[in-house]
Amino acid sequence: MAAPKKEMDKLEETIKKCTKCALHGKRLHAVPGEGSSKAAVFFIGEGPGAEEDKQGRPFVGRSGQFLREMIRTIGFKEEDVFIGNVVKCRPPENRDPQPEEIEACYPYLQKQLEIIQPKVIATLGRHSMARFLPSQTISKCHGRIYKRKDGVYIFPLYHPAVALYSPSQKEILLKDMQRLPALLKYIQQEKG
Ligand code: URA
Ligand code: SF4
Repeated sequence: MAAPKKEMDKLEETIKKCTKCALHGKRLHAVPGEGSSKAAVFFIGEGPGAEEDKQGRPFVGRSGQFLREMIRTIGFKEEDVFIGNVVKCRPPENRDPQPEEIEACYPYLQKQLEIIQPKVIATLGRHSMARFLPSQTISKCHGRIYKRKDGVYIFPLYHPAVALYSPSQKEILLKDMQRLPALLKYIQQEKG
């Protein structure tokens, strides 16, 4: 495989031109995701909102600012993680992405995971969780750590948008998030 950065750049170009599902019709910009092509942690949201669609960047609206703030609070740099979404184009009026749109877009997420090979996949919200832990419910599994057969850890979290309207869920999300540094340390020791 070519260098991860080169592979990611190539994939980004493909995503920006993609017309594989109906979501391409109303987008201003596709939002491939951003961060390190060697990130240990891959945060996966649902899909771009209005601000993300305008800028072509993930998590840059209000919930995104909160996500980025949490990432810094636990001692990570935004450029050392990867931030992406299940669908790369904005669903109109922020509706849920349809199953066929998620299916059409999923190969891009798979390719991103293949290139980056993160140690931890941190899902944000119910839809992202459902891709990786299909038999779980978010209210039960958030903040728990699941080890996949291939050794990758799945770490489901509430979506940062919930924090904007629910102080109690914001507390839970902050608390869950704080488990991440210890998890990474544990993984390093496990490998070492
Ligand atoms: N919500 C998401 O799920 N993804 C974004 O990129 C922004 C908001
Ligand atoms: Fe292509 Fe995904 Fe955008 Fe659909 S959402 S047009 S599959 S990049």
